[in-house]
Formats: sequence, structure tokens, C-alpha cells
Amino acid sequence: MTHAAARTEEADNSRAALVVALDFDGTLAPIARSSRQATIGAAPRAVLRRLVSLTAVRLAVISGRSLNDIRTKVGVSGITYAGNHGLEWSLDGITANAPVPAGESRAVRSCTRTLKPFESRFPGCTVEDKGMTVALHYRGVRPRMRSRLLRALSGTLRDPRLASRIRIIRGKMVFDVRPAFPWTKADFIRLLLRHERLPAATGRLIYIGDDATDEDVFSAFPSAMTVRVGRGKRTFARYRIRSPKTVTAFLSLLVARYETQKPAVAHRYA
Ligand SMILES: [Mg+2]
Repeated sequence: MTHAAARTEEADNSRAALVVALDFDGTLAPIARSSRQATIGAAPRAVLRRLVSLTAVRLAVISGRSLNDIRTKVGVSGITYAGNHGLEWSLDGITANAPVPAGESRAVRSCTRTLKPFESRFPGCTVEDKGMTVALHYRGVRPRMRSRLLRALSGTLRDPRLASRIRIIRGKMVFDVRPAFPWTKADFIRLLLRHERLPAATGRLIYIGDDATDEDVFSAFPSAMTVRVGRGKRTFARYRIRSPKTVTAFLSLLVARYETQKPAVAHRYA
């Protein structure tokens, strides 16, 4: 099959002309003092509403927050939401999650119980039970207390009954304790592309994120338009964008393009 023929087939079978998948904290909303305080502004919310109304676009928001939390934080219906770094999602009205083994799930719950007392031991620290994962936020902890907290954390998690069943991911002022199960945001994106009948090597995916777990997506989809928000740090993303504000500006341009580009929409029903 020629390259051109392959592209035509991709276009014919697929449902969405474009998949737009976005991280939340640090991408759509500026990083806040505490994760509870993070809010999405009126401008990005308005642009998400316009994006989701386009028939040609599948819009997804994938976050480290729990599915319920991210759905409430964004508050726009029609978006495909995924929580816990893609471990749980709601796709076209059906809620599902990654097939995490029971032993791994139990280990995470046990960590939640063990970590809870950290809140009183280290003032400013919050332990967030996210169901499938647990997060230890330490932005509010005084800098000189942080190394003690890290030592206590690694001591706790070295417990041999837990160590092999959990994985720790370091984010921005947060440690996420997840089940040791090979499933990242990239696995959710793979599932979403399959749902849209798009190949993994599609050029019709735009993914924007700002943190370590987004790098899994950047590296897994080299044909996509991958964008890392913020400076510094080496990245697998093809492009960089300055801030959540610039993300909103970029999404507005995208909406404007698709709102006027009628053939892309008509094509789906041709
Ligand atoms: Mg983020």
C-alpha cells in the first residue's frame, strides 16, 4: 500500500478528525499552592466548551487527580475524562479502569493508611486518597522539613510487603504512590486512539502536558503533535509552549481553524 493510500484509509475508518488530549494542572490551570486551590479560569473553560462542541474533535483531559475530582475541576460536559494518570476513565458514558491486580490495589490502600499520619508529623503536608492511587503533597511543608519527610517516606515504602507492589512517581511537589502495574497516560491515549480507529502512529493527535507523567505520552507518540508546557528539563515533546495562558491561546487558534474548516467536519459523514 502506498503512503497516500494508507493515509486515506486512516481518514476513512476513523471517527474523529483530530484527538486533542490535555493534562490539567500546570497545563490548563496554573500550579496552585495546594491542589485543592487549583482552578481553571473562565477563558480556558470557554475554549474547552468550544472545542468539545466541534464534531471533528475528540477532546480528552487526563490528570493525576481522581476521575471525580478532574471532572468536577474542569466542569465541562462532553469531555472524555481520565483520572489517576489514565488508570480510570469515562469514555462515551462508560466508566472503566485499567485491570490492576487485587494485590497491587491492596498495597496502595495500605500505603494510604500508613501515610495518613504524615499530615500531623509534617505540618503542611497533605495525603490525598485518590482511590486507585494516593498522593503525598508537600508544597506546604517548610523546606528544611522536606528532607526528613522524604526519608520517612522512603523508609515506609521500603516495607518488603509493599515495595514490589507499588511505584512512586515524583511530580511537582507531590509523590504519587501507584500500583506497580505497567499502565501510564500513554496506555490511556492508545485506548482512546483505538476507540477513534486511529493508528498509534497518527499525526492527528495533539497532546499537551507539563510534567513527568506526560513524558510517557511524548515518547510513545512521536508522530503526534506533542507539546510540553514550561521551560527547563529535557523533554520528548516536539514543541514547547510557555504557560497555561499560552495553551489557552493555542487552543483558541485551533478552535478558530476547525470552526471555519467545514470540509474536515463534513468529511466524517461523506
Ligand atoms: Mg500537570
